[in-house]
Amino acid sequence: MRVIQGVHSGTEYSSFLWLIARRVLPLLWIIEVVTMLKSVRLFGANVPVKDRDCTGMKVEPFVNFFVRMTDLCCANCAFCKYHSEKSQVFDMKKFKMAFDEIRSVMWVNKLALTGGEPTLCLDDVFAIVDYVHKSDPEIPITINTNGRYLKNLDKKRFLDKIYDIALSVHHYDEERNSAIFRSDEGHASIQDVRKFVGKNKLHIRCNLIKGQIDNSIEVAKFLKFFADMGIQDFGFVSMMLVNKFCKDHFISYKESGLESQPSTRLTRKLAWRECSCKNFLGYTDQGRLYRYYTRTDTNNPNDKIANKLVFDVAHLKLGFNGEVII
Ligand code: SF4
Repeated sequence: MRVIQGVHSGTEYSSFLWLIARRVLPLLWIIEVVTMLKSVRLFGANVPVKDRDCTGMKVEPFVNFFVRMTDLCCANCAFCKYHSEKSQVFDMKKFKMAFDEIRSVMWVNKLALTGGEPTLCLDDVFAIVDYVHKSDPEIPITINTNGRYLKNLDKKRFLDKIYDIALSVHHYDEERNSAIFRSDEGHASIQDVRKFVGKNKLHIRCNLIKGQIDNSIEVAKFLKFFADMGIQDFGFVSMMLVNKFCKDHFISYKESGLESQPSTRLTRKLAWRECSCKNFLGYTDQGRLYRYYTRTDTNNPNDKIANKLVFDVAHLKLGFNGEVII
């Protein structure tokens, strides 16, 4: 109280700010670091977990679980380090053991099937979706796909159990999209996408690439093209800097004009620790509604802290590049 009452003159005001800077900020930093290091034991390893949601509210410790089904892929994107022509054997028994153990000690916030191209091992995909859904139908399951075999996912038994299909489409122009995948056979055609509209499960994910979708006008054209087709859910992603191509063609959210699209409104803005995200709602001149998100990892060079567990074909790992747990 005395401090507040004393804040009158410029000098006293500066002293007050100095006191805050010296005493309070270090304390907040210590609290932040200590709480950030919260971990859960899993197969004898310490797994850093989040126990706050994006608003900072305390929740049960949770993890995002990524399942890399294979390295195989029918495309050859220049920004990808996860494709090869070698086939691998997915260890289903170990996956089930890992999943059961994870669920027993923490909450699975989402489970994403990824690759390579997961639809190249559809039997395993269906087996995992059945197993996870039976264990807990509340876990949102996503499949990341280039869409080459999109039509094979058009099964009620599968669609009813998943949250969404995250379909990679990097341009609204068929030829340019094909050129980005560097394969005529490694992506969904616009016609394939059209056939899926109405199932309400498609989330279109576009990489921001210099020379492609890289500015406000191109983003607007992309959104209009697909939203007028009936697709409502989009994500725009800056490339991970895994190679020279990504570094040379990197486009940040700020450069992309995502935050200044006409006829859009910011609906949610959250920032907590290592990431920040913004969600937008918009409509086209034909009155079609759409939403999209942008997300930025602000200080997370190491994905261990970002509560990611990865089942990588035959091993459970701490993040995509982290240590092997089993
Ligand atoms: S489609 Fe996906 S897995 Fe295949 S090369 Fe492109 S980014 Fe990599």
